[in-house]
Amino acid sequence: MLTATHVPHPRLRETIDGLEKLCAKCEEWWPADREFFFSDPEGVHRLFYCCKACYREQLDPRRLERSPATSITPFPSLFGARA
Ligand SMILES: [Zn+2]
Repeated sequence: MLTATHVPHPRLRETIDGLEKLCAKCEEWWPADREFFFSDPEGVHRLFYCCKACYREQLDPRRLERSPATSITPFPSLFGARA
């Protein structure tokens, strides 16, 4: 087992280009700065747990494809619903 000198966090690593952070969603390493991560005061390195791309994907409002479920019966089927 390697004796890491200073590993601040399992999701952080130091490269020759600087500190990188592991995105929890796409599991890719990105530069640990606000260019790739949104800032989060409570997050690791004060960055959000997933990268901006994943964050946007998460916010992707696919729910807007609401099926027009307008099959609302205007009246309760008290009449004519004979078995
Ligand atoms: Zn990501």
